[in-house]
Amino acid sequence: GKRAFIAGVADDNGYGWAIAKALAAAGAEILVGTWVPALNIFETSLRRGKFDESRKLPDGSLMEITKVYPLDAVFDSPEDVPDDVKANKRYAGSSNWTVKEVAETVKNDFGTIDIFVHSLANGPEVKNSLLETSRKGYLAAVSASSYSFISLLQHFLPIMNPGGATISLTYIASERTIPGYGGGMSSAKAALESDTRVLAYEAGRKGKIRVNTISAGPLGSRAAKAIGF
Ligand code: NAD
Repeated sequence: GKRAFIAGVADDNGYGWAIAKALAAAGAEILVGTWVPALNIFETSLRRGKFDESRKLPDGSLMEITKVYPLDAVFDSPEDVPDDVKANKRYAGSSNWTVKEVAETVKNDFGTIDIFVHSLANGPEVKNSLLETSRKGYLAAVSASSYSFISLLQHFLPIMNPGGATISLTYIASERTIPGYGGGMSSAKAALESDTRVLAYEAGRKGKIRVNTISAGPLGSRAAKAIGF
């Protein structure tokens, strides 16, 4: 069977969860990466059976998540983590959650993976129009939503089996003006789409790994509800 790592699952409402289920139904082993601040509630809810109804697969069995990895995809390695984040209670309670460390831990746990899914985005100023977006907010959106894919691919490619596949999720606001999708998120998705083409070329040659992105329709996930979509 195939082994899949899905980055960006913290509840049962988003695309990451739905993709995990589809892969599980197809027989894949499921590993997920969960944003550190959301880890505790996600693991608690899983343990208490809050997601059992939505874990149901077409054959009646429940999706098993083999392991949940804490992840913050805006930090590539421990040297990048600022002191205030290190000291933050939610972060101090977990370890090995930078991109490099997560890939190392997955390697130590399982050796290799076959499928990598990027289902994460963050734009702190998403409610601001582009015209009202600060430099800091814009760069934060690109860091969390676009560069995070490059960094994750950089670190996961060496542990991916040849013939493997990676996918991310984009949004039509990259190509058409969608009022309300602000804070540089439209720019971040445009970057993600362009990077997908370049990375498909590079990862295809380097590791026989496919790189694709899906421009997904609107879904009432936690992230989408936060901006009133
Ligand atoms: P979601 O809230 O389920 O998923 C986003 C996840 O990103 C959350 O679990 C969040 O904890 C995580 N995250 C945020 N910052 C992170 C970080 N620094 N490190 C690690 N994880 C982090 O919402 P979703 O809408 O399913 O989003 C999944 C993907 O789908 C995103 O790329 C989003 O832009 C894309 N998308 C969503 C829609 C939609 O309408 N919901 C449409 C098109 C594309």
